[in-house]
Amino acid sequence: MNDSPEFDSELHRTALAQLDRVATKLALDSDIHERLRFPRRALVVSVPIRMDRGDTEVFIGYRVHHNTALGPTKGGLRYDLGVNLGEVTALAMLMSWKCALMGLPYGGAKGGVRCNPRELSPRELEHLTRRYTTEIIHMIGPDLDIPAPDLGTDEQTMAWMMDTYSMTQGKSVPGVVTGKPIIVGGSAGRREATGRGIVFVLYQAAKSLGQELRGKKIVIQGFGNVGSVAARLLWNDGCTIAGISDVKGGVWNPAGLDVRQLQDHVTQTGSVVGFPGAEPVTNEAILEQPCDVLIPAAVDSVIHARNADRIKAHIIAEAANGPTTPEADEILRDHGVTVIPDILCNAGGVVVSYFEWVQGLQYYFWKESEIIARLQEIMARSFTSVWRTAQKSGVDLRTGALMEGISRVADAHVSRGLYP
Ligand code: NAD
Repeated sequence: MNDSPEFDSELHRTALAQLDRVATKLALDSDIHERLRFPRRALVVSVPIRMDRGDTEVFIGYRVHHNTALGPTKGGLRYDLGVNLGEVTALAMLMSWKCALMGLPYGGAKGGVRCNPRELSPRELEHLTRRYTTEIIHMIGPDLDIPAPDLGTDEQTMAWMMDTYSMTQGKSVPGVVTGKPIIVGGSAGRREATGRGIVFVLYQAAKSLGQELRGKKIVIQGFGNVGSVAARLLWNDGCTIAGISDVKGGVWNPAGLDVRQLQDHVTQTGSVVGFPGAEPVTNEAILEQPCDVLIPAAVDSVIHARNADRIKAHIIAEAANGPTTPEADEILRDHGVTVIPDILCNAGGVVVSYFEWVQGLQYYFWKESEIIARLQEIMARSFTSVWRTAQKSGVDLRTGALMEGISRVADAHVSRGLYP
């Protein structure tokens, strides 16, 4: 078994360990297993930007296609200081399993630029996005690789990417990205899709565990696109949102936070910190607060061997990608915590991205109610399928989800054969 130092990172080691473990469980053909450990292609680019202060700064960006056996690749674009080739490669691999698990005709990809988007002006962000898009232009396209928003990027980022790509083609190509604004071919319900998918999965999990979701005490780390939507929908459905954090810190009130007022506070101040009527709590401590459901919705590897035995939640819904390390997974399993794995829990985003792509290719757009109903159906079906696989094979939900996703990608390889 080969290992490549260029892809090394904590998250990549985790992703490889997961693949190796599941490959053994599935008795996967060793040649296919070896193939799946590597990305199909990975591009490193430098992105020079004239900053507002007049000098030029060079940022490093990546785009990685992990696997194309099931179709064109799909995966988010992240702007974060933690971005490196190993992280992006691991996230691309997770996208392959996620798309296969959800039954989508895509392989996995991921992209990123190492930067702090909060320190860049809108003009600098636009230039960064347009130049990065130009540097990776041969790797993207509506039937090649379709980026979407992720950590630190949003609808505006996708609109700039779509416009830049379209300019090089001499025509509008909305299908090159998903998560665009509705006015330029985005889908109703895409912005809320990941958060909404998490809520659908949580309902299904509660049902399978013989519990009620309503009234449960919830803690959420991260109040961006995913965390804020999940918070609002769960609050609307009668859950108690006891703690929420963002990159600057967190707030805690066991009696429950008013999510609408908290959202207003964030709009005015830029952070949840200082929300009246709540106690301050750090991003580390918020994970250990007493609650029923913990939703890590920020960055990876936050639940690890040193804090896993202090987690009090009975259910962890992995909204972020890779928030739990393999060592923490084992500790949580021993403590009887139900972990709903990232590739299942946060797949609502890529499912509605798929709807957006299909609508764009057909120039025919669906009603939001139709999107929500189809999303609910796919999330509930996928959860039930993973739950059954896990029960049948006597494994946890993460292993069950990976077994389904990885075996589908492997089956596609067997069916296509090896070129030449
Ligand atoms: P976002 O940029 O909109 O929000 C991220 C939130 O996390 C913000 O509140 C930010 O302040 C906070 N944060 C950032 N760094 C942090 C840190 N070190 N500690 C604590 N909080 C921190 O991003 P998002 O789109 O909501 O994505 C959040 C997570 O969900 C990421 O792991 C992403 O990969 C995953 N995800 C997103 C989507 C999607 O559709 N956007 C889909 C699937 C998975």
